Amino acid sequence: MNAPESVVMNIAERAADFPILARPIRGRRLAYLDNGATTQKPRAVIDALTQYYEQSNANIHRGVHWLSQHSTDLYEQARERVRGLLNAQSSQEIIFTRGTTEAINLLAQTWGAQHLREGDEVIVTGLEHHSNIVPWQMLCERSGAILRPVSVTDKGELDMAHYQSLLNARTRLVAVAHVSNALGTINPLDEIIRLAHSVGARVLVDGAQAVAHQEVDVQALACDFYAFSGHKLYGPTGTGALYVRADIMADMPPWQGGGDMIRTVSFERTTYAEGPQRFEAGTPNIAGAVGLGAAIEYVQQIGLRNIAVHEEALLAEATDSILTLPGIRIIGTSAHKAGILSFLVDGIHPHDLGTILDTEGVAIRAGHHCAMPLMTHFGIPGTARASFALYNSSDDVQALIAGVRKAQKLFGVGLDG
Ligand code: PMP
Repeated sequence: MNAPESVVMNIAERAADFPILARPIRGRRLAYLDNGATTQKPRAVIDALTQYYEQSNANIHRGVHWLSQHSTDLYEQARERVRGLLNAQSSQEIIFTRGTTEAINLLAQTWGAQHLREGDEVIVTGLEHHSNIVPWQMLCERSGAILRPVSVTDKGELDMAHYQSLLNARTRLVAVAHVSNALGTINPLDEIIRLAHSVGARVLVDGAQAVAHQEVDVQALACDFYAFSGHKLYGPTGTGALYVRADIMADMPPWQGGGDMIRTVSFERTTYAEGPQRFEAGTPNIAGAVGLGAAIEYVQQIGLRNIAVHEEALLAEATDSILTLPGIRIIGTSAHKAGILSFLVDGIHPHDLGTILDTEGVAIRAGHHCAMPLMTHFGIPGTARASFALYNSSDDVQALIAGVRKAQKLFGVGLDG
């Protein structure tokens, strides 16, 4: 990946765009390294929300008055921005949701319920977040389909030979993360999707940990479905989207019934709206969608390629630096990783480490990261996880390393190092 050094160097200066980062935490400069859980919001997104409520608020789609039409335009412009982010062919392939979790549940309860029969198979992977396991498990229980998890190697990569051995004529769906939230592993989607399609299965990509950190092109990937959350992309909470290829969406039954998702209603028979509106019953999170559009504009101005290069550099620095300390075990050592560092420190429980780091102003996550099967695979209850975003800098990495060293001293472990 090539990006001019100056562009990459300047990215961390964008921290000034994020008001919360100027807030001292426990009297310290905040080193916010919990971006895998949620990202902070730039002024551009906060202003877009305020401006929406101050200048544009009205309900969408049904109104004849000016503000309603204006609000509808803003909402649909945000859908177009999501289309651009994913390079979908049409904005009609974008369904707004509350986030990745809702997107996957929507898919399971519509396309999934329509297509899965007893004896059919759904492949998930051992790296998945619970939200890409449980909805499929629930659907399997209802339909009699079988859930088949792909094994994970000791490096935290998918065992592709095992994956291939699971694929067969009964495989209806492969549900796979683009990037593992617990380890940072970037999965080989091209191969996964090609192999799935060769047996006639559909592919859902969980892009929750990908969209803020690299360019995504659903047409080049040729995936059938792609889900993500706005709040991990510098956008508001309660926003997200599900991409569904147009020809597949055309056949999908609705899920929630109500206003906005219908064409005509009578007591005898209701007909449904076409396109994404069929899946957006009720008044949606209009302001949230507008804020998400602003977030997409923000990252696109910086350039997702530049962000990826910046975060790769932070990950490399953090990995090299932490390995200079004694008693460190990194969980997830794939050569293809996004900006996530999951690790264990000998003699210190991840929760204790997280608490000590917090007193230093360093915010990380400790626990199973909603990936309990993956933790079981590694035989551990959880890890400490530092996850990077565009506004992080070398100072944040060094605050993390100093904090870990301090925890080791407090616990009297690794003192020889
Ligand atoms: N999938 C992955 C890979 C995630 O990291 C997350 C959030 N941690 C989710 C799904 C769920 O996203 P949300 O809670 O925003 O619906």
